[in-house]
Amino acid sequence: MRYDDSTPAPEPASSVSPERRWFARRSALAVGTAVLAPTALAGWVLVQVTTGAGADDARPPRIVMPAASGTDASAAPQTSAATPPTTPGPSASAKGPLAGRTVVIDPGHNTGNFKHTSEIDQKVDIGTNRKECDTTGTTTNSGYMEAEFTLDVSRRLRTVLEAKGLKVVLTHEADRPWGPCINERARIGNEAGADAVVSVHADGVSEGNRGYHVILPAKVKGGAADTAKIVEPSRSLGERIASNFARTTGSAPANYLGGGTGLVVRDDLGGLNLSTRPKVFIECGNMRDAKDAALLTSPQWRQKAAQGIADGIVGFLGG
Ligand SMILES: [Zn+2]
Repeated sequence: MRYDDSTPAPEPASSVSPERRWFARRSALAVGTAVLAPTALAGWVLVQVTTGAGADDARPPRIVMPAASGTDASAAPQTSAATPPTTPGPSASAKGPLAGRTVVIDPGHNTGNFKHTSEIDQKVDIGTNRKECDTTGTTTNSGYMEAEFTLDVSRRLRTVLEAKGLKVVLTHEADRPWGPCINERARIGNEAGADAVVSVHADGVSEGNRGYHVILPAKVKGGAADTAKIVEPSRSLGERIASNFARTTGSAPANYLGGGTGLVVRDDLGGLNLSTRPKVFIECGNMRDAKDAALLTSPQWRQKAAQGIADGIVGFLGG
């Protein structure tokens, strides 16, 4: 989630832009058939949208999204040189390819950020730009904090991954008053030499917007940011996470962006721009939608969410 509370949102959460309505119409058409394996993502379009996707930005994100026509549930999974030669899904072959591999999990925001707005509002260098250190994240209408959600899912995810024999590092466990800043979150993944990094979030947009989406790094270069080497493997990681998340949770891809694919490419997130390791964000649902909130506040659903993310990571690593 991008803004919140103490800092003025760039646009009222309740406003629905023409772009948003366009997405909703496209998504309504696409969501019934466009499911777990978005492939052949031809025709990239650059659009300006005003949703609250993502975590570490403070203004309407610029989103590079695939055309909705690029979904084809019947096609073979997209392959590339960076795609491990395995099929998505859980694969319990413990050791082997997972031995010695490291996963960094980044629980979005921090429950203490609300009390430290002056600290988290300070700008940091994200290579391509300067942005706020961190943001508070959103909450459900009943007050369940995104930062509580992200930490809970991250801990569940760690348990699942460690049972597979993976080394897991969390960027924080709310064991510090605020933060870390987005540049430090990226650095933790880089310095750990992570084989995969996942930043866990939930969105905070208006009622009726539902579903999950995975945010992939765009190709950017500027200052310390250079994502050329991680764009392809991050896409592979993100596609696997998206498809497995849909399978374990039963959730649909977001109906308000991503053209029904559950995938969005962004060039404005410091946590992605500064990463040198394959990395994605996942927005697990919309905390401001009553139906999604009922899922996000359920421990049983959060376990399914963690399982889906874990299965995607394990598949990506060839396990
Ligand atoms: Zn967030």
